[in-house]
Amino acid sequence: MTSAGSMRMIKDKFYFMKRALTQAERAGAAGEVPVGAVVVADGAVVARCGNASIGGNDPAAHAEIVALRRAARRLKNYRLSDTEMYVTLEPCLMCYGAMVQARIKKLYFGAADPKGGIFSTGAFDKVADIFNHRIDIEAGLMQESAAKMLKEFFQARRGAGAVERDGLENRYGG
Ligand code: ZN
Repeated sequence: MTSAGSMRMIKDKFYFMKRALTQAERAGAAGEVPVGAVVVADGAVVARCGNASIGGNDPAAHAEIVALRRAARRLKNYRLSDTEMYVTLEPCLMCYGAMVQARIKKLYFGAADPKGGIFSTGAFDKVADIFNHRIDIEAGLMQESAAKMLKEFFQARRGAGAVERDGLENRYGG
């Protein structure tokens, strides 16, 4: 390997999940639930963002959905075949469905979401037949970092007097 090659940052799955964690952090700082996502094509990030539902008054603006929309616009294709999604939290049913529509090839996610995640809740097993595209999954990638961020976010909100009743609060507020 040349010296130039050895100095290049290795863009492995940890590199991309760190980019997603950065997006989660930014979302949290903006008052959104700290979840971040990046879409990778040909070894490069083509879209990155965090949750934007609260600020955007948009119930569908989960990090994954916004990332898919940006990636599709950038690649000028509504199919994102051969792309990878990195997201810090296990996707919900809506987001997984959108990834199937986009034909995402591989999904890496961090922390599990036992109350809302498509796999953890058993929802996937019930509806798997309606998905006409199979996505390779790697669960738990850098999950400690993602879970810590969520936990701290909800603890801070609770400290400020905000009480949430959604699943994430129950899971990470403790
Ligand atoms: Zn979602």
